[in-house]
Amino acid sequence: MALKHSKTHQTLPSKCVIWTVSALLCFPAVSPAQPAAVPTLGSPAAAELSPSVERRLGEAIMVQGRRDPEYINDADLSQYLNEMGRKIAAFAPGGAPQVDVFGVRNPVVNAFAMPGGFIGVQTGLIVLAGAESELAGVVAHEIAHVTQRHIARGLTQQTQGGHLALATLVAAILAAMIPGGGQAAMGIAAFGQAAMIDRQLGFSRDAEQEADRTGVEMLRKAGYDPNGMALMFGRLMNASSLNEGRGGGVYATTHPLSIQRMTDMQNRIRQYPSGKFQGSDEFWFVRAKARVLQALDPRALRQALDQLEEEARAPGGQAGAGESAPRRVAAWYGVSLAALARQDPAAAAAALQQAQSFKISSPYLDLQKIDIDIANRQYAAALTAAQAGNKRWPSRRSFALRVSQTLQGTNKDREAVTFLQAQIKRWPNEEPDFYKMLAVSQDRLGESIAAKQSMAAYYERVGALPAAVTQLQQARAQSQDFYVQSQIDGQIRTLTTKISDDRRLLERFK
Ligand SMILES: [Zn+2]
Repeated sequence: MALKHSKTHQTLPSKCVIWTVSALLCFPAVSPAQPAAVPTLGSPAAAELSPSVERRLGEAIMVQGRRDPEYINDADLSQYLNEMGRKIAAFAPGGAPQVDVFGVRNPVVNAFAMPGGFIGVQTGLIVLAGAESELAGVVAHEIAHVTQRHIARGLTQQTQGGHLALATLVAAILAAMIPGGGQAAMGIAAFGQAAMIDRQLGFSRDAEQEADRTGVEMLRKAGYDPNGMALMFGRLMNASSLNEGRGGGVYATTHPLSIQRMTDMQNRIRQYPSGKFQGSDEFWFVRAKARVLQALDPRALRQALDQLEEEARAPGGQAGAGESAPRRVAAWYGVSLAALARQDPAAAAAALQQAQSFKISSPYLDLQKIDIDIANRQYAAALTAAQAGNKRWPSRRSFALRVSQTLQGTNKDREAVTFLQAQIKRWPNEEPDFYKMLAVSQDRLGESIAAKQSMAAYYERVGALPAAVTQLQQARAQSQDFYVQSQIDGQIRTLTTKISDDRRLLERFK
């Protein structure tokens, strides 16, 4: 929860909240001297919240979350984080849980797990990480909270007010589920409540320790350097003391315990046989992008650009040589991104050229080239490059999105429809935006009923079921075709059944 944690960084969140890195750092203030025995947490309460119920609750919260400006809708970041999460979750004791990892546009250093395996990672944390394994360490810790069912327990425990905040959140979600009923206002209310729950539910110290242990084990098995977790832990301890000065507060109580957890973790890592681990170059590109994404005003953007340029010009090594090369290429890529965000395509192109001079190929550089062409309104060139990129990097949805975008930009809507339908066949649920783009082209082609059906599919994918029903009802009213009408009737029935099931489910938490 806690998408909404902090709009500005002053209202530093992390109330030890919860789910989090705070996780790594944040604990209830209990006495530090406790034996480090393997914690055994009873689970009768968790039974109350079955995994499927928990998942639906998470989905309901995400409907609100996706509308939040802090939610990052970026195919590259999303694919990268999800692949990382799923790779780690594959080694979960007792079977891989469903996890969805997403980026949160916020320079605050934090990460959190919500009900149902939805894990948010603040850009501040990605930027702070000094290696891929460090970021993976935090993700592993969060996934461990999911696999150990700490969230379900936290939610069902009758601790002061925890239930109350959940009930209020649930009431807000329920209200938002009424078709056409005050959704915008409810979104805000839901977030306020989400933040409240964050404050009210805190994972116990035992839960934190269990998440550390399970997490580091999954991390290692997934092929990441387990030391990454300890290194990140150290960085987070430092970051927490910095946050403190900005009005954080809660971290203060945590140091002694943090040291105990750190020692515990280091001891564990020491017992592992030494191995050779490798991080992907992609991490550096994702990190550079995160730095730019979190810069929301011109000043922050200028600052991000300066930092990236400094990193790009880091001394040591000629272009193309040495281990630091991918990092420097990525930094130039970041400079280019920042320049484009400042609406300076010429500077963006110059920085991209610097990146390309290293002769290291990366889909991120190809994507940037396309985006610069688009910014210069050179849609034909962008289309050609997007199609080439899509052939070269077929597993990346970001190229498919660029192809669609540039087809639309060159008024090739018929082609766009065919192309999008093929992408949807391939990725039926991973990229809701394909449906939205499809709706745009269909609408332009005058296929208004099909466009409404596509929008309904989009809303369904992002969990906004009542909005999906509304689109379908409009499509139904427009259609003269008996066959299409009965098909739509079936879809509406399925959705309304789901809505009432969800409502019944949520009522239990009121
Ligand atoms: Zn934790």
